Amino acid sequence: MGKSEKVLQLCRENSIRMIDFKMVDLDGRWRHITIPLERFGDSIFTQGIGFDGSNYGYAPIEKSDMVFIPDPDSAVIDPFAEIPTLSMTGDVCVIGTDENKPFDQYPRNVALRAAEYMKQSGAADSIAIGPEFEFYLFDTVNYQVSPRGASYAVDTRQAEWNTGLADTGNLGYEVKHKGGYHIAAPQDISYNLRSKMCMLMEDWGIRVKYHHHEVGGPGQLEIEVELGEMVDMADKTMITKYIVKNAAAAEGRTATFMPKPVYQEAGSGMHVHMLLFKDGKPVFYDKDGYSSLSREAHYFIGGLLKHAPSLCAWTNPSTNSYKRLVPGFEAPVTIGYATSNRSAVIRIPAYAKTPELKRFELRSPDATANPYYAYAAILMAGLDGMEKQIDPQANGWGPYDYNLYELSPEQQARIRSLPKSLDEALDALEQDHDYLTKNGVFPERLIQIWLERKRKESRAISQIPHPAEFGAYYDL
Ligand code: GLU
Ligand code: MG
Ligand code: MG
Repeated sequence: MGKSEKVLQLCRENSIRMIDFKMVDLDGRWRHITIPLERFGDSIFTQGIGFDGSNYGYAPIEKSDMVFIPDPDSAVIDPFAEIPTLSMTGDVCVIGTDENKPFDQYPRNVALRAAEYMKQSGAADSIAIGPEFEFYLFDTVNYQVSPRGASYAVDTRQAEWNTGLADTGNLGYEVKHKGGYHIAAPQDISYNLRSKMCMLMEDWGIRVKYHHHEVGGPGQLEIEVELGEMVDMADKTMITKYIVKNAAAAEGRTATFMPKPVYQEAGSGMHVHMLLFKDGKPVFYDKDGYSSLSREAHYFIGGLLKHAPSLCAWTNPSTNSYKRLVPGFEAPVTIGYATSNRSAVIRIPAYAKTPELKRFELRSPDATANPYYAYAAILMAGLDGMEKQIDPQANGWGPYDYNLYELSPEQQARIRSLPKSLDEALDALEQDHDYLTKNGVFPERLIQIWLERKRKESRAISQIPHPAEFGAYYDL
């Protein structure tokens, strides 16, 4: 069966009228373009569909024509379209005189090259990735989901916490400050919506592990998925965020993956679990190693910790990211590893004991990351650790089996910290990116474009008068 025939059969079976093509932009947003079924045919798979790459962040205006080629294997019915619509993702190409060439900066192509590099290096045949999706749900009208809500005057709430009298008074069934973890109904008012999101994810081929209310008082939620192969998991990260946002919008709410939408509440991370396989066997397990981790696992961790600051430029690429990476909210601030320790940037879950499950999580990432770039950068950092045999223990990066939020000044001086701003992370990337450009996995040009774009973004935001500045300076 030809490519278009397979798609057309799906269309017939589901009375499809529109075909939708979804592409990832540089920042990691889906954009889309739609054609009527009547315009669909084989030429789409050879000639593709032209678009303006400059609005995607991929090309300057004077050279902005690009081509999208859909992948028939990605065809799925978009559950949010009112008109029956078949949706496809695919590849982006630059236009050549004779033939079109895959665009080397397209996020999915970077991730594919990283996976290829891993195979060629002999370190492993595959990497399984498991992101955790944390997000807040707000009301579109007044930005609150609870009687008091996320926009509750920060000063007032702050004063209550300082006196230790937080959450006094009759709050009805509102979730208390930092009290949302696994909270049950009736406080868990978004239970049904979360279940709906997870059913849509299952229908789209994503295996949901579980979902629950998270720590953050007004409406912080979490969905976790079963681990899967890296590039596929980056696709599934895009799909999950699409489903979460659209299912919320369908009920007149908004979901945000912004890392720190509410001052003094828990931020939203996107922790990334990972493990390698070679010849079908897990690479990270050794029953005699620290926390049953093999030497290879330690080296991989060593690479992640060595490159942690520059990695943040991909895994935490927003100015808001660094408002999350502060002490006291289960987000990491220091560079180290340990078992069960949620204040360390790498945590080895104590419950994942068997060889097939043995893994660790990198806790720094958040969902403002472009998942393809972020997962690829994580893999390249880990592989660099394996190649160079970077031993985290010998470097004094752990294991730290104590609360890293409460360090003495001497300990603080010995332990490296994660970047405190996007600018710091970008400076680190500028200095440290040879581990990314090996074999052209990350094109040098992409790194320069990223630095330029993100610095511009950071500068623009820093120039905007901040609401808190009015409180501090207005009457001076
Ligand atoms: N919300 C926390 C963060 O910002 C993580 C909480 C957890 O361990 O799940 O990373
Ligand atoms: Mg969580
Ligand atoms: Mg986690």
